[in-house]
Amino acid sequence: MRLAVLLFLFLQACTNYGQDMKSKIVEKEKPAVAEQKIVRTEAEWRKLLTPEQYQVLREKGTEAPFTGKYYKTNDKGVYSCAACNAELFTSDMKFDSDCGWPSFDRALEGGKIKYEVDRAYGWVRTEIMCANCGSHLGHVFDDGPTLTGKRYCVNSVSLTFYREKPEVKKN
Ligand SMILES: [Zn+2]
Repeated sequence: MRLAVLLFLFLQACTNYGQDMKSKIVEKEKPAVAEQKIVRTEAEWRKLLTPEQYQVLREKGTEAPFTGKYYKTNDKGVYSCAACNAELFTSDMKFDSDCGWPSFDRALEGGKIKYEVDRAYGWVRTEIMCANCGSHLGHVFDDGPTLTGKRYCVNSVSLTFYREKPEVKKN
């Protein structure tokens, strides 16, 4: 009888241990999303950004299609967040989409992008934000034409492009 109780307790302990392990593993498998580092008040953002940038980045606005400064850019370089300068995309990830906004098939690794379900206007979309400062970038869709199948549709207003310097030829 005593043995049965001991066995029961032992098994109980094993189960608890197993659950502990499981929760630890699950925690590890979560995608790497960087902690938001820059936290500013909206008044501070208003001072730092142009009215157009503020409307898109902080109020989740959308620039009119085919009007943004980067939708046709094909130069080599890096695209950073216009609010905090965190690097988000490179020109290698950009593709020509006819949607009128700069489009990328993936983002730089390391949890640079924060994803959130957006149910505005009666449809469900995935909003993308800069993980570093929480500013709105655009949306990501599953209809990309490249191998990743993704289309990160980003407002030009939300980006700053840093053109790669051409190699200087020495005489
Ligand atoms: Zn940012």
